[in-house]
Amino acid sequence: MQFVDEFRDPEVIGRTAEEIRRLADPARHYRLMEVCGGHTHAIYRFGLKDVLPPNIELVHGPGCPVCVLPMGRIDDGLSMAENSGVIFTAFGDMMRVPGAKGSPLEYKARGMDVRIVYSPADALKLAQNNPERHVMFFAIGFETTAPSTALTLKRAKALGVRNFSVFSNHVTIIPAIRAILDSPDMRIDAFIGPGHVSTVIGCRPYEWIAKDQGKPIVVSGFEPLDLLQSIVMILRQLKQGEAKVENQYKRVVPWEGNRAALRVMAEVFELRPYFEWRGMGFISQSALRLRPSYAEWDAEQRFSLPGLRVTDPKAAQCGEVLKGVLKPPQCKLFGRECTPERPVGALMVSSEGSCAAYYNYEHRKSCAVAAP
Ligand code: SF4
Repeated sequence: MQFVDEFRDPEVIGRTAEEIRRLADPARHYRLMEVCGGHTHAIYRFGLKDVLPPNIELVHGPGCPVCVLPMGRIDDGLSMAENSGVIFTAFGDMMRVPGAKGSPLEYKARGMDVRIVYSPADALKLAQNNPERHVMFFAIGFETTAPSTALTLKRAKALGVRNFSVFSNHVTIIPAIRAILDSPDMRIDAFIGPGHVSTVIGCRPYEWIAKDQGKPIVVSGFEPLDLLQSIVMILRQLKQGEAKVENQYKRVVPWEGNRAALRVMAEVFELRPYFEWRGMGFISQSALRLRPSYAEWDAEQRFSLPGLRVTDPKAAQCGEVLKGVLKPPQCKLFGRECTPERPVGALMVSSEGSCAAYYNYEHRKSCAVAAP
């Protein structure tokens, strides 16, 4: 398959891994953060850690939108829907994320009208097909998914569909990277830049990371060879004492981003003054809310927002794992109280969560080896 097979060619992968070993200074320890949860999954899925020298440490970043959402926002969405008797819609990976009184699926089991949708447009269609009911869409994601929510809102407005609203939990990636770099307990040598978000925002917004912070960043694709090539590009920069933004994922990511998507986002959304991130606290200008011209379709304006603040269970260390301070198995609950079947934190639920990735690809493997 074009754009897949050639990026999984074992011979080329072997040569690239050899190049990494040649470039890595054995006297140095490298900490490279992969910002995107999709990269974390690819790293575990393809066993890439096994081909890297031990002095290259991959640190998982905050690029999983379901994982960074604090429990209070899930509870806010569910209680607004429950109190108003609306149809609650969300993507499938939200459905098992625990809130203080249960996940959306548990609310459904208790009788609330909860439905999985594959896109915000599906939620809008549901509203059009059920004019006597109100449909709320729980919107989540970085700049990757925000344009489709914005387009759906524009369509709802143009068609005059008034029994539809959006509870916006869209977040933006740059302030999160800034918060990581400002964190005193964090030492990162370079970043593997997020591939999906960059298809929308492009590479230019990362330039300050190289210029002001002196850290290389390489926007990467998701195949094994993409990630290994990105590590080669980072090591070359570090070896030459350089720090710049490079684009390994040119076949998908335009340097200037997707102007049409950025335009529609700017038309519908504005930055919130601040927003709470799980484990990272309040980060200024890090999330999107609907502009006043879309107030009629804004769930926070239409319904009474409880503004709940719920702390994670005491022993859960999701925040530390999200910031890259701890690895998933270092959480006290990992693999015992917290498993994909019975998740305590969102990182064990989401398809982009680092705990789920580690559990599915590393933990199960080690259990299988230990079993005989
Ligand atoms: S194992 Fe569970 S509780 Fe611990 S960090 Fe991961 S998701 Fe959170």
